[in-house]
Amino acid sequence: MDLCSWCQRGALREASRKPASPRHWSRVNGWSWPLHTFQVVAWIILFILAFTNFCIFVPLLPPNWNLIMYGVTGGLFCFHFVVHLLGISIDPAETNVRLKKYLESIPTFDPSKHTRVIENQYCHLCEVVVSQKAKHCGACNKCVSDFDHHCKWLNNCVGGRNYRYFFCSLVSALASLLCLISILLYIFIQYSVNPEVLRTHPLYEGVSKDTWLLFLPFFPVKTKALVVLGIGVFVLLLSALSFLLPGYLFIFHLFLMFKKLSTYEYVTQNRYQNIPKVPAGRKELSFKISMPQVSGAPLLHHLRYPGLGQRPVSPCSWNFSQSFASVLAQFSDSVCVQSEHVPLALSSLGASRL
Ligand SMILES: [Zn+2]
Ligand SMILES: [Zn+2]
Repeated sequence: MDLCSWCQRGALREASRKPASPRHWSRVNGWSWPLHTFQVVAWIILFILAFTNFCIFVPLLPPNWNLIMYGVTGGLFCFHFVVHLLGISIDPAETNVRLKKYLESIPTFDPSKHTRVIENQYCHLCEVVVSQKAKHCGACNKCVSDFDHHCKWLNNCVGGRNYRYFFCSLVSALASLLCLISILLYIFIQYSVNPEVLRTHPLYEGVSKDTWLLFLPFFPVKTKALVVLGIGVFVLLLSALSFLLPGYLFIFHLFLMFKKLSTYEYVTQNRYQNIPKVPAGRKELSFKISMPQVSGAPLLHHLRYPGLGQRPVSPCSWNFSQSFASVLAQFSDSVCVQSEHVPLALSSLGASRL
């Protein structure tokens, strides 16, 4: 299947999803119900990697080196754990939203009364005055100050209050994964060259050459070399796959810092540029706030399938930067740029110009 048909089928599949029912309560932070699957997956992966690192692989390193790697990887994992928790737990909402203390439910947006969710820095859903860069996130159902994006991995919005923790969690995750991958590669190389280098712990004295020990030094469990190697291959693949997403996000956010843009600004700018020109006499597309709390899929669908009689815009015909935006949109479900809030936020940016 080529990229074009894959993208187009993906857009159609997204567009065919049923709109989510409106939520009437705002989420406070990443721990607010419901938890997101990605969030749970992230914690499970973090636990697996930390457990195998400290209990299986670092004890195989030569004396002194294992102490150093206990310190380095321990420091990195602890730092990542703290900033990850802060990124999830901090409420990134606008000050006025937080002052309301989430005691009241959020009204459903009525497009017959207002054309935009945020007008003159007043949010008709939160019913408070908001700052200039605030956007109303459809997933969290509240206005977020200095809105960047909604991250499904944190299950929380990333805004001015928790952006630094989000970025630090990316950096520490990458550094931790690099350490773990290096340790695993060292173990594989040494196993093929001279396995005895990996068996220097005193508990290996009197143990046959076919037997290896897991969970050193406190709970040694005898096993076969194949089991250690199998776990090593699994963790290496998991680490390499886990490296891709934060690696991609890290480079993308460095690029955004260089451009002095937020993720939201970047995505909306590129989406505006990707709107096809409407032929004279044809009614222009309107992104009125008629679906404020539905999935972003209809928006994506509108961008790719602008209207009856118009050809879909093929991502393959775009230039590089547009294609990058397309890829970002395609991965929006997995790289935090959730498009759910875009219809809301577009309206506050002046979507009528579409
Ligand atoms: Zn709001
Ligand atoms: Zn959000």
